[in-house]
Amino acid sequence: MIGIIAAMNVEMESLRSHMENTETDVISGIRFVRGTLEGKEVVTAVCGIGKVFAAMCAQTMIMHYTPDRIINTGVAGTLTDKLNIGSIAVSTAVVQHDIDTSALGDPVGLISGINKIELPADRLLSGQLSACAKVMGIKTESGVIASGDQFVASAERKAFIVDHFKAIACEMEGAAIGQVCYANKVPFCVLRAISDSADGSSHMDYPTFVKMAAEQSVALVRRFMRC
Ligand code: SAH
Repeated sequence: MIGIIAAMNVEMESLRSHMENTETDVISGIRFVRGTLEGKEVVTAVCGIGKVFAAMCAQTMIMHYTPDRIINTGVAGTLTDKLNIGSIAVSTAVVQHDIDTSALGDPVGLISGINKIELPADRLLSGQLSACAKVMGIKTESGVIASGDQFVASAERKAFIVDHFKAIACEMEGAAIGQVCYANKVPFCVLRAISDSADGSSHMDYPTFVKMAAEQSVALVRRFMRC
C-alpha cells in the first residue's frame, strides 16, 4: 500500500475523487481515506499546514496502515530559476531550514540526536516520479526540498535557504514527513508543483496559482499510479 499525504484539501480533493472502494477513519482529527487509485492500494490523508501536523499524520499513517512507501504531494515555492510556476520539484533529500542550534556551534539545519541535516528520499521512488513527470512533458528538477514553519515570502529568506542547503523548493511539511519516515524506515519522496516564487511576490502568486499547481501534482501522482 502506498501512503499519500497532502497538507491541504486543494492538493487532495481531486485525487480522492478518482479513488474507489473507499473507507474512512478519523484519527486525532485527521481523516484517512483508504481505497484504490488506478487499481493500486492507497491510503490518503490531508494533514494540515506545518511540520507538527505533518509529523502527526505520517506517524499515525505508518502505525495504522503500514504503507510500504509514502509520497508527500502538493505545492511549494521555487528556489531556482530552473523551476517556474507549474513545474515540478522532486526530492532527492529533505531538510528543515528552520531548525537552528547554531548558537551552540551546530550547523544550521542539524537535527540533533540523529545528527543529520539532509534526510535522503527513496532513490527508486524519486527516480520513478521524475521519469513520470518527464513523460508527461512537465518541467522537472530533482534536488533538496526545504521545509519550515513559515511561508517563505522574501528574497532574504529565499537566499538564506539556498545558501545553506542548496534547496530547489520550499514548503512546510515534507521534511517532517521525511523525518518520521526515516525513524520508521519507510521509503518516502516529496513531490511539489510550484505555486509561487518564494519572494516578495509570492503572496500574490500563491492565491493565483495554488489550484493550478495542486492539479499538476495530482496529475503526476495519478500517472505514477498507472506506471
Ligand atoms: N492559511 C493558509 C496557509 C497556506 S501555507 C491555508 O490554510 O491555506 C502554504 C502551503 O503551501 C503550505 O502547505 C506549504 O507547504 C506550501 N507552500 C507553497 N508556497 C510556499 C512558500 N513560498 N513557502 C512555504 N510554503 C509554501
